[in-house]
Amino acid sequence: MDINKKGNADFLRCDNCGKEIDVFEKVNLCPYCGGLLEVHYDINGLKQSAHVFKEYRKGSIWRYRDFFPRVEDHNIVSLGEGGTPLTKSMHIGPKLGIENLYFKNDTLMPTGSFKDRGFSLAVSYAKELGVKKGFTYSSGNAGTSFAAYSSRGGLNALILVEYLANEVKKSMIRFHSDKVAIMEFENFEQITGMLEYAAKELGLYQFVNFINPIRHEAMKTYAYEIYGELDRVPDIMIHPVGTGGGLWGAWKGYNELSALGVTDRLPRMIGVQPECVAWIQQAILKNAKYGEAYGDSEKTIAQSICGNAPIQDGRRLISAILDSGGMAAGVSDEEILDAMLELAAEGISAEPAAASSVAAFKKLAADGKINSSDTVVCMITGTGLKQPSAVTRAAGVPVYHMKASPEGILETSRRFLDT
Ligand SMILES: *Cc1c(COP(=O)(O)O)cnc(C)c1O
Ligand SMILES: [Zn+2]
Repeated sequence: MDINKKGNADFLRCDNCGKEIDVFEKVNLCPYCGGLLEVHYDINGLKQSAHVFKEYRKGSIWRYRDFFPRVEDHNIVSLGEGGTPLTKSMHIGPKLGIENLYFKNDTLMPTGSFKDRGFSLAVSYAKELGVKKGFTYSSGNAGTSFAAYSSRGGLNALILVEYLANEVKKSMIRFHSDKVAIMEFENFEQITGMLEYAAKELGLYQFVNFINPIRHEAMKTYAYEIYGELDRVPDIMIHPVGTGGGLWGAWKGYNELSALGVTDRLPRMIGVQPECVAWIQQAILKNAKYGEAYGDSEKTIAQSICGNAPIQDGRRLISAILDSGGMAAGVSDEEILDAMLELAAEGISAEPAAASSVAAFKKLAADGKINSSDTVVCMITGTGLKQPSAVTRAAGVPVYHMKASPEGILETSRRFLDT
């Protein structure tokens, strides 16, 4: 294969045994030892395309396709994912003395969450590989996204949605695809092993974060977009963590910008989980390089980040956070509900998992762990519209009733508008 045929991705390398595998092999995990695979790129090839970072224009993730494994035009399945606003905080940041707080608003994605970046690339790449069938498990948003992109792309895709997902998310998956099953389980930790067994038995390709080595490649794009809008990398990036594919992908994106000489700085990465399942925080407290199952997934409102155990051993996440000089944070449901309301007053409707980054920001800023001069980006990963009961819990319902009459309108206006 000549270089143009191959693109800039050189090979997949195993985290564990270091073996290199051709980037066009239909593999999920390392065929030698079962370790996680990571795409490695030819840095000189990437340098030819590094000008895109300097000429920022909003567009889909495919604007950065030279930084993905190659996908031919006819295999691309895209709904315009990416290019979301980076919105400056008017209230939450300034109230805590931090003027440069931004929200990366991925609630505005085609299916309402940042998962669309990953599935646009993963489904397109699967087509490139000639994959016809596959599956993933999901806390809800991944399933919705996978259902939409696989249906559109003609991929035969099964979604196993966690029983913990709310009815709206389950229906959204069913809306886009009829190949969905609700998965009951007792032990979150054992799910990936079971999928691996079934994938081997049936020769199926997996779309689970990390087990699928391509999904998180697309998450590099919001690091690129943030750089493009700010014309610098932020000092701190605060990111909700479920599997950690998002945080890991963003960290990889920033590191590529650094390796390409686009920037000489990297942000501190802060990973946020509900405190009842905060296994990363637990691992870091114990000085461990590996994560272990911790806590109870049923005890949080933040369904999309309620996983209480790492995929494989969580090494990637712990090292990304520590290498960046960052930290892990845990937040309570009350802190999340408050953050949802405050974010709503900034004009952004976030589901609980998505508002967890803002809850962590408020906590860390109040504790003096963020400097007033820091430029901070909170990743807002998914829309409140898909978890309406949490919106009602955060905001309540309007209680004031009035009759449509001239007096009624006058009186109500006086009362609410202070006139
Ligand atoms: C999936 C999801 C997350 C967690 O993303 P990971 O890549 O699994 O860490 C966070 N927020 C929302 C809204 C999600 O759907
Ligand atoms: Zn290996």
